[in-house]
Amino acid sequence: RERQAYAERFEPGQTRDGHRVEVAANLGNTAHAADAVEQGAEGVGLLRTEFVFMAHAEAPDLDTQIAEYREAIEALDGRPLVARTLDVGGDKPLPYWPLPQEDNPFLGLRGIRLALTRPEILETQLRALLVAAGDKPLRIMLPMVKDIAEFRAARAIVERLQEEIQAPDVQLGVMIEIPSSALLAPSLAEEVDFFSIGTNDLTQYTLAIDRGHAELSAQSDGLHPAVLRLIQMTVEAAHAKGKWVGVCGELASDPQAVPVLVGLGVDELSVSLRQVPMVKARLRELTLDEARRHAEIALAQATSDAVREALEAL
Ligand code: PEP
Ligand code: MG
Repeated sequence: RERQAYAERFEPGQTRDGHRVEVAANLGNTAHAADAVEQGAEGVGLLRTEFVFMAHAEAPDLDTQIAEYREAIEALDGRPLVARTLDVGGDKPLPYWPLPQEDNPFLGLRGIRLALTRPEILETQLRALLVAAGDKPLRIMLPMVKDIAEFRAARAIVERLQEEIQAPDVQLGVMIEIPSSALLAPSLAEEVDFFSIGTNDLTQYTLAIDRGHAELSAQSDGLHPAVLRLIQMTVEAAHAKGKWVGVCGELASDPQAVPVLVGLGVDELSVSLRQVPMVKARLRELTLDEARRHAEIALAQATSDAVREALEAL
């Protein structure tokens, strides 16, 4: 089965009855973009740009960043790249960005809220992305957005840079990984170009379980019905405004979750590059109606164990 999935990895991501779901790769390093293409990825759905910043003793300058991003863009050869802006802080400090001691780093200065406190670092990154992309399909994604105000603050910087360097339009979207942003998806959907659901953090913040907690890991399940309802709200709000929604958390490559996410209407699944052939094969086993049935049954349960048992019984 695995061999067949691999042999068919360049087929487009779609269900047996032709419903299209783009299958993209998550990358932690631009050097892996060529591998992602080789595994059949239809683009990069999440470039975790932290690696560019962690690899240096001081903030990487404009040219260093342009060279990094260009490597991925060239390897993708016209396929879309979703680049997430710097998502450090909290548990991932940067030596050259001293942060106050925090009791709860996961609830502290991280993601977009940290980036907006040092707009010059964010601005250099955005400029590098725009220059590196030229007219190639770049999508910029903001991490840990909790409401429209943070999106607008970042968008103002992007728009100013675009005008300054005469860069072509890019899609600008947000990660949905804080419950507030899922609950406020109708307001965000008015202005963003897309959503990508980060189920790792969304599960953590919805269930109040640290995503790395060893003893609680069995309970930290993205197939929890509370998380699924937030995903459903997000997709409905996005589609009502004609925007697309991806999932880039680990749930996107869980074989039990793939039909549920497709049935909820997710347009793109972004998974680790080795999982691309398997996720495409899973899609080909399904019809859209079957996927909708999986979603409906999952949403009707009260616990994640009940969701998994009910899906197993299908
Ligand atoms: C997520 O939170 O689901 C996500 C994809 O981002 P990260 O794992 O980098 O926090
Ligand atoms: Mg996250």
